[in-house]
Amino acid sequence: MSIAPVNPADFARERIRHELLARELRVLRRERLTSTIARITLAGDALAGFAAPGPEDHVKLIFPAPPGERIARDFTPARVREGELDLDFVLHGDAGPASRFAATAQPGDPLVVAGPRGSRLAPAGVRKAVLLADESSLAALARWIEALRWRAEILAFVQSDSPDVLDYPLPTGDRVAITRIGTGPEHALAAVASPGIDSHTYVWAAGEASALVPARRHLRREAGLDKHRAKVDGYWRIGVAGLDHHAPLDPDDPED
Ligand SMILES: Cc1cc2nc3c(=O)[nH]c(=O)nc-3n(C[C@H](O)[C@H](O)[C@H](O)COP(=O)(O)OP(=O)(O)OC[C@H]3O[C@@H](n4cnc5c(N)ncnc54)[C@H](O)[C@@H]3O)c2cc1C
Repeated sequence: MSIAPVNPADFARERIRHELLARELRVLRRERLTSTIARITLAGDALAGFAAPGPEDHVKLIFPAPPGERIARDFTPARVREGELDLDFVLHGDAGPASRFAATAQPGDPLVVAGPRGSRLAPAGVRKAVLLADESSLAALARWIEALRWRAEILAFVQSDSPDVLDYPLPTGDRVAITRIGTGPEHALAAVASPGIDSHTYVWAAGEASALVPARRHLRREAGLDKHRAKVDGYWRIGVAGLDHHAPLDPDDPED
């Protein structure tokens, strides 16, 4: 059964365009946040004017590539401070250029950061949010909680097999509940199906693409939430290098 929104304007998200710049920055420091996540802090004069006000804003990290090729990976600006930019990397082995970079980065190493091209602010009138992330989308989850915690009840779920994943610095609040759950499609589905989504609820989910397929199907078909009420984003896909997150989450059901 479909749930009519109380006021569709509550779910509207303002868009902001940014001048697209590629900034050459340098590693300032590397810090381990959990057993599987490293925070790399970048700095440089080129950071002047950097803005990323939307919770899911992302930049492209440009890695050295053979002539004629371009290797870019999407990352979330975890924190932006005066002259510094934090990026949080999942350390998933040396198969990928981004993970490899994060495992070995030393102060002074260069990194080109392009974007963000644009921002979508959090929906202004949301009073309840169900948020689902894995390690790759923890930085975005932190930004979502920060954006909503003063005006919404938040149920956040983190899919991870790492017992220390909640050592990651997520914002807290009286109306913020954060739970670690198992990985895989059944846990993702249970998270978005369980908390009693009502007409005030906004849902955001991001992580391994194939694990999110049943969750998205449930949100669209059973809960009746369209893409303005529930955003489901594949941040990576098992066995795929450099996943394009604009590609359909489920190639057999490319609904949006
Ligand atoms: C909008 C957006 C924001 C993102 N923000 C972040 C972020 O802040 N931090 C972050 O760590 N990631 C983030 N990601 C995910 C990141 O872009 C991908 O995980 C990317 O594939 C990593 O590149 P890589 O070079 O390490 O591996 P790739 O070369 O892309 O992949 C190599 C192999 O590693 C596997 N792999 C890729 N990512 C993971 C993973 N997370 N866990 C296990 N195996 C993996 C692939 O399936 C492939 O087999 C974001 C993605 C999007 C779309």
